[in-house]
Amino acid sequence: MTARVLVVDDVPPNVKLLEAKLTSEYFDVLTAYSGPEALEIISREHPDIILLDVMMPGMDGFEVCRRIKADPVTAHIPVVMVTALDQPSDRVAGLEAGADDFLTKPVQDLALFARVRSLVRLKVMMDELRNREATGAQLGWEREEGGSQEADFPADGSILIVDEQERVMERIARALEGVGDLTFMAGGEDVADRAREKNFDLIIVSLTMRNTDGLRVCSKLRSFEETRHVPILVMVDDGNTKLLVRALEMGVNDYVVRPVDRMEFLARVKTQLKRKRYADKLWENFHLSMQLATTDAVTGLYNRHYLTSHLETRLAAAHQAGKPLSVLMMDIDHFKKVNDTHGHAVGDLVLKEFANRIAKNIRGVDLAARYGGEEFVVMMPETSTDWAYMIGDRLRQEVAENPFDVGASSGPLKITVSIGVATSQPGDLPAQLLETADKALYDAKEAGRNRVIVAGQD
Ligand code: GH3
Ligand code: MG
Ligand code: MG
Repeated sequence: MTARVLVVDDVPPNVKLLEAKLTSEYFDVLTAYSGPEALEIISREHPDIILLDVMMPGMDGFEVCRRIKADPVTAHIPVVMVTALDQPSDRVAGLEAGADDFLTKPVQDLALFARVRSLVRLKVMMDELRNREATGAQLGWEREEGGSQEADFPADGSILIVDEQERVMERIARALEGVGDLTFMAGGEDVADRAREKNFDLIIVSLTMRNTDGLRVCSKLRSFEETRHVPILVMVDDGNTKLLVRALEMGVNDYVVRPVDRMEFLARVKTQLKRKRYADKLWENFHLSMQLATTDAVTGLYNRHYLTSHLETRLAAAHQAGKPLSVLMMDIDHFKKVNDTHGHAVGDLVLKEFANRIAKNIRGVDLAARYGGEEFVVMMPETSTDWAYMIGDRLRQEVAENPFDVGASSGPLKITVSIGVATSQPGDLPAQLLETADKALYDAKEAGRNRVIVAGQD
């Protein structure tokens, strides 16, 4: 995953050093040498993440961070404070200013990359949710009263702490007094399995337990449907960078290093809880308002109206980021014959099963919609033509090779689909992109059906 990183520091060699490290890992790097310059670049370029020096003449890093987080347009961009000294008080001040994480100079490579990636991953997810919410607002659904920024959400919830040492647990209990309901589990093979049975808002896992592999617990938590989105904060011993990096790569959200500073620990826990509350709210808004007004009753997919509105939002974002967006326009072949032979009810079941097949073959960020009777569209952000073709053809093949078991008296039905692929050009409007895909679909039909054709490629 690549991302645009803004590096801010008043000392040019510091900027150059981070720039070189990040560039070597294929990040896109922007640079600024003062707070005001950083703010100007942020409002113009919308970077994906900001590495911000604390000590700068004029406007210091805390102030820059506060301003980023106070502006609704930029508040969602993760900020990592880069502190010269390993000073817990700086860290706490940074978290209070709204920073998402810290790095201490000299910055260690592995921690830097893992940290940046982990925050970028989170941002991609949140951006998608926010986009969907924006689409909802555009469609005229009411927004919930109250704040819509992370900072406005309460920092409480139910917290699970996994550690074998009773002493540590007692200390944590004292540090987190009043923050939420605490549940303790003293390790064991089945910790993750037990954790999925309750709705936790945060799970804190020690990575240095004797009888339980903390990393394995984290990886299980990330793989279970119920706990996939629950933030995980790990505790690791000072100097154990390798373990930490593996945890971050696994998708752990944050960490504290032992010996744990109590204030910092509390601040990090609160940040995670707020973020979880915010994400929950976005999910909830998205589910409630959107599902009611935007889904198609037969297939459960989005309807045409939703697709075109959302496509508009996503196209604008794609153009701004200079990234391609592709769509698949799909139409079931000779569907009329299914209705004529087996009846409308069976036809409906075929549509439903086709929708299931689509859902199974696309990614979480893709969006599938029923566009018309037996026509479907998949919108794929940040996707090149080649990828879109590949995904489309995989779906086509899956449909053709596995007849639809929909209870027809003659047994499973052989179904095929034709697909047109189009990729956005700068300035494309949703209607143009869909029309281009539709032409390719028409070509696929003309060429004999059960095939995928890319627009503009003969
Ligand atoms: P082609 O390969 O050219 O796409 O042929 P086709 O038969 O699939 O296309 P045509 O457009 O001639 O027919 C589409 C049929 O889809 C006609 C319509 O009755 C049926 N249809 C549309 N909406 C629904 C629906 O919600 N349920 C069912 N069962 N059928 C539907
Ligand atoms: Mg400085
Ligand atoms: Mg058809």
